[in-house]
Amino acid sequence: MQIAVLDRERCHPKRCHHECQYYCPPVRSGTPTIEFPVPDEQPVINEPLCIGCGICVHRCPFGAIKIIGLPDELNSEITHQYGLNSFRLYSLPILEQGKVTAILGQNGMGKTTTLKILSGLLVPNFGKYEEEASKDNVIRYFATSLMGTYFQDIYEGKRKAVLKDQNVDLIPRVVNGTLGEILRRNDPQNRFDDVVSQLEMQGSLDRDVKACSGGELQKLAIATTLLKDADIYLFDEMSSYLDVAERIRVAKIIQELSRTKTVMVVEHDLALMDWMADSVHLVYGQSGA
Ligand code: SF4
Ligand code: SF4
Repeated sequence: MQIAVLDRERCHPKRCHHECQYYCPPVRSGTPTIEFPVPDEQPVINEPLCIGCGICVHRCPFGAIKIIGLPDELNSEITHQYGLNSFRLYSLPILEQGKVTAILGQNGMGKTTTLKILSGLLVPNFGKYEEEASKDNVIRYFATSLMGTYFQDIYEGKRKAVLKDQNVDLIPRVVNGTLGEILRRNDPQNRFDDVVSQLEMQGSLDRDVKACSGGELQKLAIATTLLKDADIYLFDEMSSYLDVAERIRVAKIIQELSRTKTVMVVEHDLALMDWMADSVHLVYGQSGA
């Protein structure tokens, strides 16, 4: 089974000679593997007819195509697909309370999509991108696993998930004030003193967010996540910009949190993950595919 991913930003059918189609061996022998349904608009790659030769990948002058060979058994397990000839995510981790679940893998392999699905922000479509994704389908699909109850609780509002975003450097664009002011505005459980002390942020509370270093922004993002009243805490890359001592401090907080809450982390620091996580899910594949 081949899956084809067309990078729609890179594909410029009016600036090429449709080399992808011209050189495709099945097309040359009359099989409509690559078609242009609308002349000079982007092509459609008919995956079941593709033999995976990779010629289109090399012939496209803009490097707009990726062809990925996939074990047949995985094809029935698409969790989410954004559109025709686009990125696909296969499978999801199982989250358990009392354990730190971790995801390890390179960027562009679906970690952020996974976190969005687990937080309830994105409803998975199981590859049926033409239809509106249905929460009932998700609950039915996972009915025989722990994740069925997980999604039912999330969708019905019985459990709440919070997500610490990966892009902490964007924080100054969306919030104003000092770190102390921001944390106090996001403290529904009056846990300000505890969290500030745990993260050793006392010395930076008066700093304006626009003047903060990457490490200070990372700790701000972690702190605002910890302050929220939730059942499920998802951390997308929490160690970037932090030094070794700070990473260990955060890892201890995460472990402590997992005793009463469901916790998942996406992390690149292997040593930290090994030390902190109870189970690790490896994400593999091709970036953006
Ligand atoms: S995939 Fe490449 S060769 Fe094919 S239409 Fe797009 S830019 Fe042209
Ligand atoms: S990989 Fe080969 S068979 Fe498949 S679409 Fe590209 S050129 Fe055609």
